[in-house]
Amino acid sequence: EKYVYNFNEGDKDMRSLLGGKGANLAEMTNMGINVPYGFTVTTEACARFYKEDQKIWEDLKKEITNHIKDLEEHNGKTFGSTEDPLLVSVRSGAPISMPGMMDTILNLGLNDDAVIGLSKKTNNERFAYDSYRRFIQMFADVAMGINKNNFEKVLSAKKVEKGVTEDTELDANDLKDVVEKYKKVYKDIEGEDFPQEPREQLDKAITAVFASWNNERAILYRRLNDIDDSMGTAVNVQSMVFGNMGETSGTGVAFSRNPATGENKLFGEYLMNAQGEDVVAGVRTPKEIATLKDSLPEVFDQFHDTAEKLEQHYKDMQDMEFTIQEGQLYLLQTRNGKRTAHAAVKVAVDMVHEGLLNEKEAVLRIDPKDLDGLLHPTLSQKSIKENKPVAKGLAASPGAAVGYIAFTAKEAKKRAAKGINVILVREETSPEDLEGMVSAVGILTARGGMTSHAAVVARGMGKCCVSGAHEIYVNEDERFVRIDGKKYSDQDVLSIDGSTGNIYVGALETENPKLEGTFGEFMSWVDKYRDMKVRTNADTPHDAKQALEFGAEGIGLCRTEHMFFKADRIFQVRKMILAHNFETRKEALDKILPMQEDDFYQIYSLMGERPVTVRLLDPPLHEFLPRGQEEIRTLAEDLNMEISEVKKRILDLEEVNPMLGFRGLRLGVRYPEISKMQARAIIQAAMHCHEDGINVVPEIMIPLSSDVKELAYVKNQVREEIEKVFEEKGKKIDYLLGTMIEIPRAAITADQIGEITDFFSFGTNDLTQMTFGLSRDDAGKFLDLYLDKDIFAKDPFQVLDQKGVGFLVETAVERGKKANPNLHLGICGEHGGEPTTVKYLYNVGLDYVSCSPFRVPIAKLAAAQEAI
Ligand code: ADP
Ligand code: MG
Ligand code: MG
Repeated sequence: EKYVYNFNEGDKDMRSLLGGKGANLAEMTNMGINVPYGFTVTTEACARFYKEDQKIWEDLKKEITNHIKDLEEHNGKTFGSTEDPLLVSVRSGAPISMPGMMDTILNLGLNDDAVIGLSKKTNNERFAYDSYRRFIQMFADVAMGINKNNFEKVLSAKKVEKGVTEDTELDANDLKDVVEKYKKVYKDIEGEDFPQEPREQLDKAITAVFASWNNERAILYRRLNDIDDSMGTAVNVQSMVFGNMGETSGTGVAFSRNPATGENKLFGEYLMNAQGEDVVAGVRTPKEIATLKDSLPEVFDQFHDTAEKLEQHYKDMQDMEFTIQEGQLYLLQTRNGKRTAHAAVKVAVDMVHEGLLNEKEAVLRIDPKDLDGLLHPTLSQKSIKENKPVAKGLAASPGAAVGYIAFTAKEAKKRAAKGINVILVREETSPEDLEGMVSAVGILTARGGMTSHAAVVARGMGKCCVSGAHEIYVNEDERFVRIDGKKYSDQDVLSIDGSTGNIYVGALETENPKLEGTFGEFMSWVDKYRDMKVRTNADTPHDAKQALEFGAEGIGLCRTEHMFFKADRIFQVRKMILAHNFETRKEALDKILPMQEDDFYQIYSLMGERPVTVRLLDPPLHEFLPRGQEEIRTLAEDLNMEISEVKKRILDLEEVNPMLGFRGLRLGVRYPEISKMQARAIIQAAMHCHEDGINVVPEIMIPLSSDVKELAYVKNQVREEIEKVFEEKGKKIDYLLGTMIEIPRAAITADQIGEITDFFSFGTNDLTQMTFGLSRDDAGKFLDLYLDKDIFAKDPFQVLDQKGVGFLVETAVERGKKANPNLHLGICGEHGGEPTTVKYLYNVGLDYVSCSPFRVPIAKLAAAQEAI
């Protein structure tokens, strides 16, 4: 069995075996790009490692030894040589990129002999010992878990002893002494000598990388990103190149395009005379990549060309790591770059224009979930004009955030759980802050560049971020941030603008985005390749307007209860509910009728001839009645009733289990006059539109049916009333009468229900609730537990449970269609905007999904991708 591959043996499609990093190193090697040579130990080895009690077995050791021999031959260097030693880096790389999750060891192979070799070879003794002491510390930290502080103390002491402040002021002899002391620290803690044998160092390092697959940060990252725990990581062993060999050496990271805006221009940072992660760590302030053109023009051109070559090859924006050793460029990594949603769309659209992608490929390129980032609010132009920023940082990840200051991840999480919007304000973030970043609405850091941890992670999450705001001072211990001379605590609100980097004190007004320009062009392709319709859930003309701007093709759910709550009509509604007899109730209903009619007329006028499904009154009646003493008294007075009588009626209407109580079409069974009034309002509004030249075909939806006879009863009442309207007006219009499928029995008896309906709309919120027997109002209190304990993989109220609830949907579709081949099918539950559910429902054969206005583009994209 083969567990180790040289870089020239792999390619980019082998990422599940070689990991993303390894597969791309192999691909670049074979493209003729200058990559330090090396080999990859596979993810299969990692899997076996976990089966073998987390030990590297003999055969694998042998295989690795053979590849080291290859590497020695290839480079003309040998492990531990006092003339020209082979040094390698040991780098983890999972099949899916997990940035910053696992640790890399550099300069492995250094020992008491090799350090002499390195010194001779580079003619730089200081450099050699500096590398050695760094290696001891890194190896001890990453491979053995020895705290860095133990070493840093030694170094500080040395500086004090020499009366200097900077590491660079220590000379070769000082560093030799530091190395000796480091080795002693290692021995004191580990109980054995620092391993001198490079092969032993390597085995320990590989073991550590495999083990790091299961460190806490990695586990959390996988959980947040839905990454399979079982896939494991590969390990890359690669010859070292040195960015710290003087002023013609350096190291950097760069994107082939701007990951925040998508602009087609190299974007990144580098440091001269530096090694490894100095750029990302924010120790020294890196320079912009464009300035490399001035200092090393040939290297810059070469890098520029390499970036372009890689883009053409991968047909995607690349995120690259490089090192320059004495004027020679080496690529150390490339991968498809993480980007903001904004940049993702721009890059995809640009690449179609550049001929790199076709429209379908561009549509497939964007993750529907990521669109969310584009649909988020920005600061309104008005508020930007009226407010002055108090400080400015880097525009690291676009969008706007308004929230209370939180100084730690823990605090952010806690307050967010209470529904408080917080902005995580930190000196700098690290992987430990991940949970806090998830909870916060935005992230603000005082240090770190465009490729700092905060910036990269925020962009990945589609979350607003301002990084590197040097003017602010964050004191995490005393929990305040000083901006422009003033102190702010966790009780203060900030507004940050991730598109400009501006920071404001107080809550600024935000506004919703529009579908224009590049995004508009992208969505036009989405519409072109999609066949399932996407409607929206909208109760008011305001919502409807918003949804139209987002491209909704109709309304799949217009709830009427919100209309009942309006201040000017709630009195009549209450009167209707408390009425003793038909006459009083009718009186109230007659007052409500013109108001409802006007609501519908407005919505229809806005929506034009797009379909609009209006649902008849659904919630239990007691929800409309007052609770406070004062309100009850006024109501009694207004209605000319005794207070005690009103109270008694309210009590009568209360239910132990309202979710399973007197709601939905059950109201219509008891009070047909309510359904009739609503039906009349709908039809008259539609006829009014016809007079305006808009040929609306109203869709009337009866909620919560569970039995065909029950439905037939309400339906007949509604039909009778509509016939009456037709008679009165002396003309007819087309209309549809359908029902919601949200009780399991309705799904199961869909063969009967389908016979008497024109359409089904799956109310998957209730259907999920009733299928699981899980109250959607209370489940929040313990559902987290189910997710934590891996009993549920997903919250079934967010992602449709295909096995159970989906089975009912499929059954209803099949039986309903058999009874009525023209049956029109849609969904109006919360799940209608969730991409995986949309894809599933497309395959089940629904005609449309309906979701909240903001999710319309997301649902459209998911539907288009499934159709392609
Ligand atoms: P991460 O996945 O955290 O980015 P990497 O394995 O990419 O970790 O290593 C981090 C950095 O270490 C690289 O960006 C590079 O600067 C440096 N590095 C890794 N391998 C080598 C090498 N063979 N020669 C020189 N520098 C290296
Ligand atoms: Mg890297
Ligand atoms: Mg319902």
